[in-house]
Amino acid sequence: MTDDMNNEYDVVVVGGGAAGLSGGLMLGRSRRSVLVIDSGAPRNAPAAGVHGYLTREGTPPAELLEIGRDEVRRYGVDLVDAEVVSVSGAVDAGFVVAVADGRTVKARRLLLTTGLIDELPDIPGLRERWGKDLLHCPYCHGWEVRDQAIGVLARNAWAVHQAQMFRQLSEDVTLFLNDALTLSDEDAVSLAARGIRVVEGAVAAVESSGDKLTGVRLADGTFVEREAVTVMPRFVARAGFLADLGLESQEHPMGVGEHIPADENGVTTVPGVWVAGNITNLMAQVSGAAAAGALAGAQINADLIAEEIRSAVAATAAATV
Ligand SMILES: Cc1cc2nc3c(=O)[nH]c(=O)nc-3n(C[C@H](O)[C@H](O)[C@H](O)COP(=O)(O)OP(=O)(O)OC[C@H]3O[C@@H](n4cnc5c(N)ncnc54)[C@H](O)[C@@H]3O)c2cc1C
Repeated sequence: MTDDMNNEYDVVVVGGGAAGLSGGLMLGRSRRSVLVIDSGAPRNAPAAGVHGYLTREGTPPAELLEIGRDEVRRYGVDLVDAEVVSVSGAVDAGFVVAVADGRTVKARRLLLTTGLIDELPDIPGLRERWGKDLLHCPYCHGWEVRDQAIGVLARNAWAVHQAQMFRQLSEDVTLFLNDALTLSDEDAVSLAARGIRVVEGAVAAVESSGDKLTGVRLADGTFVEREAVTVMPRFVARAGFLADLGLESQEHPMGVGEHIPADENGVTTVPGVWVAGNITNLMAQVSGAAAAGALAGAQINADLIAEEIRSAVAATAAATV
């Protein structure tokens, strides 16, 4: 997707997933000069289709992004394949964005939409099935495993909630406590009342045969057949390149990982820098990320207009002295 890259833009968007492209669309349509830099690793890449996105139900993730890229190009937005390694500067003097091959580009404003990393527990056989039959989100792929034998692998108390969510999709749900969780009496009662089986003991492996998950092996050797397994990742914002900017990831209030805090418009603590999508909202699905990107794009345009009004007023005043 690499286009030529100019030296300077009104806005550089770092990350070209749903959030970044959506921000680019709003800004491009506002006749802003915009560069979207993307390293080509969207979070949902292992999934066969994007679900829960009205009008695009089941579209392969790569196809959805290709449609988005075509749309933003129509408005003159430049799209470059590259990894951003650092961002420095400030709103008054402008920001400098550096990519891995050594090139740099200047920007008046930044929109950061680099998403997050799903950190999975270190259990043999688990990562290989990620996004196929090793799942985390009932809204993303729950329907696809409806009525199947589902295992829920506990890491913390979220597993109880996850088990109850997947129970909505199948009557055959087993919660593996994996030495990570002690159930309260209330949880034990509510799980039993909905027919969710609880298995104690450490999990040694998730096993597969061919391209299909077959079950969960416990440390004591017991094998429990399952067709799909769910686990809660730790969600960690991809924000390592932001150190020079003074933007740091913080623990999310829900205890599910680390994010870049921002207000509801994507405004961060650093003037001139916005965030949207999973980098700030760890729970956002594709539609939520796209909506947040669009909102941030509009806010950035408004902020640039305000700056341009101030300059125009000052220039007019200077000319009339
Ligand atoms: C397995 C799986 C399946 C999912 N299925 C669904 C589903 O069916 N429906 C749904 O709504 N949601 C689904 N999701 C959630 C979905 O992936 C996110 O909601 C969505 O990807 C968030 O969009 P984003 O733009 O914030 O981040 P991303 O889509 O992750 O995009 C971020 C982009 O930034 C780029 N990037 C990162 N760092 C840099 C850098 N330093 N320099 C340049 N570029 C960088 C990445 O390469 C990536 O392309 C799924 C998630 C997973 C893990």
